[in-house]
Amino acid sequence: MRLEELTDGAMEALRGAGAFASDLLQPTLRLGVTGLARSGKTVFITALVQNLVAGGRLPFFKPVAEGRITRAWLEPQPDDAVPRFDIERHLASLTADPPAWPESTRRLSELRVTIEYQPSGPWRHLAGTRRLNLDIVDYPGEWLLDLPLLGKTFEAWSEEAIALSQAPERAAAAASFASFLASLATAPLADEQVALTGAGLFRAYLERCRNEAHAFSSLSPGRFLMPGELEGSPALTFFPLPAPAGEQPTAGSLHAMLSRRYGAYLKHVVKPFFRDHFLRLDRQIVLVDALSALNAGPAGAQELGRALRSVLGVFRPGANSWLSALVQRRIDRILFVATKADHLHHTSHDRLEAILRHLLGPAIDRAQLAGAEVRVQAIAAIRATREVLAEQHGERLACIKGVPVAGERLGTRTFDGIAEAAIFPGDLPEEAARVLEPTSVAGSAGIQTGFLRFRPPPLAQDGGQGRPAFPHIRLDRALDFLMGDRLS
Ligand code: GDP
Repeated sequence: MRLEELTDGAMEALRGAGAFASDLLQPTLRLGVTGLARSGKTVFITALVQNLVAGGRLPFFKPVAEGRITRAWLEPQPDDAVPRFDIERHLASLTADPPAWPESTRRLSELRVTIEYQPSGPWRHLAGTRRLNLDIVDYPGEWLLDLPLLGKTFEAWSEEAIALSQAPERAAAAASFASFLASLATAPLADEQVALTGAGLFRAYLERCRNEAHAFSSLSPGRFLMPGELEGSPALTFFPLPAPAGEQPTAGSLHAMLSRRYGAYLKHVVKPFFRDHFLRLDRQIVLVDALSALNAGPAGAQELGRALRSVLGVFRPGANSWLSALVQRRIDRILFVATKADHLHHTSHDRLEAILRHLLGPAIDRAQLAGAEVRVQAIAAIRATREVLAEQHGERLACIKGVPVAGERLGTRTFDGIAEAAIFPGDLPEEAARVLEPTSVAGSAGIQTGFLRFRPPPLAQDGGQGRPAFPHIRLDRALDFLMGDRLS
């Protein structure tokens, strides 16, 4: 795929969306929200919008703290070809009796919130109000790491994907796929059944990696994990295959068939996503279920680190990368967020942030040099627990308390979805680097005693001026970084 082809397409997409024209009339901020399945995208967007619209308690979101937001409301979704984020349905689940977490997203969706505000500064009362359109674009993290594929041939991708599947930490997950590859003839012919079997085994391997590590480094092709509307289509029926030794693949070979499908995947799936959605983003938040990854011990921490760095690499590719010319211009702030921080006592929130920062390492500085501000935060978009002190064997322990989701288990106890329970979530290490050590604090770096899913809390007035909103942890700080400056 040629660079000019993409550049032209990108410009076309920008023009086509009327971005230039409408930005002049009313500024628009396009915020990308991504993360793997279950990382917390749906909950985050619902809580963000609900807090904005209802006037929730957001003391660290400067425009709100300074009393400059006059109102915020939902507007019709501006992109006709993109499904709308179904906020009403998600809110209905969260406010049902009993409250339930919303259904997760499986595809791209979008929502527009318009915010009316007074600009900052001493003369703000005289300046009148202004408006900002916040376009929230929710897309599966599984699709994100496909972008580097645009520069890769089938042969190069196959070589990398196979080498990675043989790495010690992945070999067990890839065992069935490896024996399938080994069972193929030397120069196999094109055969739909073989393609289907291979693609199925390759997908199962990727799924296992994602579920074990809860992180997303090198899980391409992303649509294998999150197919959207493409489930079962031939563009998804391929797998990495070593190039036949010495000779060019012949027309009727399996290699030629898979290579053609890989090309179709790039052309019909990856490129349109890149052009129509990714290139139009101004800011990006990446949600990570870091606690689940850390719970898997040092190997989980390693994989999480690799994942964070490769995601940052997509947004800020190296200076000599063909992607960089296109991507760098636009996205100027990237926020990595460890979600569900209400599973920890507040004393561990800063530690969790320090761990993410440590895992990203010098990649943060490189990205800053390339013109993107990168931040790391631990948040709970909806806080389902509160903190209590419990005594055990004469020791006072900082615990979290909430109503575990019906059916959750801890030891021999099964919860009914009504009774409250307090658990000791354990501590994260004070020194971030210790999460990578084989024997750090008891039970590795993760949670020491149990991990429970808690039921969502009721809407709370919580001292806010407006209508009731969901309690949260540090959601306001995330908002301030993502858009505070655009409301000044
Ligand atoms: P998505 O697949 O990325 O859209 O993930 P969801 O937003 O659907 O979140 C997946 C699950 O994570 C939810 O069903 C909740 O159980 C849990 N979750 C997400 N955000 C929070 C949070 O802020 N606090 C708590 N306690 N749980 C959360």
